[in-house]
Amino acid sequence: MTHSDRTPAPANTSSNPGIRSDWTPGEVAELFELPFNDLLFRAQAVHRQYFDPNAVQISTLLSIKTGACPEDCAYCPQSTRFDTGLSVEELMDVQAVVDQAQQARQAGATRFCMGAAWRSPKDRDMPAVLAMVRGVSALGMETCMTLGMLSDSQAEALAEAGLDYYNHNLDTSPEYYREIISTRTYDDRLQTLERVRSVGMKVCCGGILGMGEQRMDRVGLLWQLATLPTHPESVPINQLVRVPGTPLADEADMDALEFVRTIAVARILMPASHVRLSAGREEMSEEMHALAFMAGANSIFYGDKLLTTANPEENRDLQLLAKLGISPEPLTLRSAPLDPDPRFYDASSPHAA
Ligand code: SF4
Repeated sequence: MTHSDRTPAPANTSSNPGIRSDWTPGEVAELFELPFNDLLFRAQAVHRQYFDPNAVQISTLLSIKTGACPEDCAYCPQSTRFDTGLSVEELMDVQAVVDQAQQARQAGATRFCMGAAWRSPKDRDMPAVLAMVRGVSALGMETCMTLGMLSDSQAEALAEAGLDYYNHNLDTSPEYYREIISTRTYDDRLQTLERVRSVGMKVCCGGILGMGEQRMDRVGLLWQLATLPTHPESVPINQLVRVPGTPLADEADMDALEFVRTIAVARILMPASHVRLSAGREEMSEEMHALAFMAGANSIFYGDKLLTTANPEENRDLQLLAKLGISPEPLTLRSAPLDPDPRFYDASSPHAA
């Protein structure tokens, strides 16, 4: 099931008449062609219908298992196939993850995302992973994980443990995808997304710009996302971080205005989704951040690490948000103690929820 052979899903009209899943590739391409000011005006108008235009959602991302991944994603320093000098780190201890989540909560994050460099989780790792979900959840934060492809039973177990979001990106268009990854297919990715949906978890799914793709690939990526039967609740739009040692280390600069255009088109196509500025923000100027927010981006990753690449320091983010009069989205923490009883998330405890 790919861009070229998928029948568009019917418009998603049951819950919200303004949200469509029946966009055509031509409509998406036309949005990209709009004069810049018209595009931004339209995106901003849509944004104001669905969101507070002066609020952004803040997430923190922690790498819970780093490097030694068998996949060959050409942008990724964690692939075992590229010599990037990255130190490999085994799966973290559950308590250490919960401690980091606690710090993130105190720094204002409402969602805690945990990423592991795996093709897919091994069943032997699942007890610890599920304990992390329970532990972070017990802090009242929203939980998100990115662990690679999931089986049906793994998706069910994560949902049962209370995982709110699962991140699994499509990365680019189906056509360009094979230039970037050979070890799993676009359909593999779509199937994992279906599994995540079928067990009731929310979906975080987006892509990476600046990997040498053409505009038609950006059209193809957004068309894929916007014609999923239910739009991803979170749509991360990354800018390639060119890591020495990876095949994409010498890619040309991404055109900043084309990046902003892509954000604006994503906002119009998926009006109720959080569109997130993710990797690559440390190379973006304040002006580019401001334009991206104007175009409808309303979520950022916050913290000193975005998996293994640098992220602008937290205080730089706070200063920028203050300059723009933007506030963090109000905390929606579930009522929870700051120090939950560890028995709730001890992987080996019979008390584990
Ligand atoms: S992006 Fe994920 S799956 Fe691909 S190489 Fe990196 S860690 Fe592995």
